[in-house]
Amino acid sequence: MKFTALGGGIPLGGSHHILNLEEGRRVAFDCGAIQSQGGKISAPPIAEGNIDALFATHGHFDHVGMLPLFGKMHPETPIYGTEVTRRFASMLLGDSLKITRKKIEAGEKNAQAYFNIADAIRVLTRHERYKQVLRPEWFELKPGWKIRFWPAGHINGAVSSQIITPKGLKIMHSGDISFTNMPTIKGADIAPDFRPDVLITEATYGDRDLPNRAAEEQRFVNRVIEVLRRGGQVLIPAFGITGPNIAITLARGLTAAGIDTPIHIDGMIRKAARIIYGSSEWNAENKSVPFPDNIICMPDGREGYIHRQRLLSGPAVILASHGMLEGGKIMEYLPTVLSNPLGAILIPGYQAEGTGGRKLLELERGANFLIPGFERRKGEVVSIYCDVERFYLSSHASGPELANWIEELDPKVLIVVHATAEGFAGLKRRFQERAKRPLMIIPAFNGEEISIDECLARRRV
Ligand SMILES: [Zn+2]
Repeated sequence: MKFTALGGGIPLGGSHHILNLEEGRRVAFDCGAIQSQGGKISAPPIAEGNIDALFATHGHFDHVGMLPLFGKMHPETPIYGTEVTRRFASMLLGDSLKITRKKIEAGEKNAQAYFNIADAIRVLTRHERYKQVLRPEWFELKPGWKIRFWPAGHINGAVSSQIITPKGLKIMHSGDISFTNMPTIKGADIAPDFRPDVLITEATYGDRDLPNRAAEEQRFVNRVIEVLRRGGQVLIPAFGITGPNIAITLARGLTAAGIDTPIHIDGMIRKAARIIYGSSEWNAENKSVPFPDNIICMPDGREGYIHRQRLLSGPAVILASHGMLEGGKIMEYLPTVLSNPLGAILIPGYQAEGTGGRKLLELERGANFLIPGFERRKGEVVSIYCDVERFYLSSHASGPELANWIEELDPKVLIVVHATAEGFAGLKRRFQERAKRPLMIIPAFNGEEISIDECLARRRV
């Protein structure tokens, strides 16, 4: 048995993992896009040869962004995933195809079309290529091979994959995982009937202690209230998929504080909110989560323009995408809020190097911020007079949470993927410090084949 991270091992990037099981069976996990500085999108190396199934662990772009390319190269391979993952993938792939087409038309050299809309539709068609997994129940992939998806927290529809081979070996692939409850997502828990021999886990924040999510949410809500009370606007750059949960947290927080200012959502967050609202699978009670009444979707077109002008003339709370200030609807609000000393831009999550969000965090008050031109809008330079603050509303497990979880699962072999070199080293250090019992921890460097049989044999010695 062998495991290879073709992408999304160490270092992070578009995820594409291959597990060569016994008797020539091969399964893949995810096929995501790599996003580099300057918005360039590329594909990880795609597995060659027979693949029996691909498991789509969740709908983030770095996990599903190249599914249509995989589908083109493996036209017979079924894709298994949840319905929410399918719908998020459809939303992100549609958006990415649109952006790529615009870039190609504008003559941008680094824009490349890896697939077309027909490839995307083909790979996401229900009951044909895309097999929906509706519940965390065991099913047979091939005679003797048992598979189960287990809720992984992180984002709506995210799952870990559990596999039992005909010889009884238990393997678990975490996908991206979080143990914290969010308004529409229950944090991952441990299946009472499954302890893997081999655990393949993400370790995005393996080296980090993150603030307690509930405490950080309260700090976030308090800050929003403070800005509203002084009469400013709060602008929150958020990602489509994680934005709705932040909006609900805020909406509940404001209601609890007796504040009736509504939360406005704009850009892709609206679409994701509709997907989450309409889905009842995989969340805590298997029923859809009602969105609070004080969340308002911004309209498009001229109506949207008028509404926006009105909003920006007084205290308001707006969540808009793109989450790293790389274009999108948020740009429509940015000049007014940036130049308002009463306003605030509250950044809920990680900002990659080279992005607008990272630059904004690095600049001092009074400095000039370049808002790049996009679509019909011209670029402009605006001086920063509002507050800018970073919060840590992460949807990945922290180092200590991962360590506790792994310790409880007690695998014989641990393979670490979806991590920086520091994330891996941090997680490994935690185990060395605890040193209750030896655990074989293997880093899955991208492109390197790991022999699971050898690891298991060495462990027995
Ligand atoms: Zn993810």
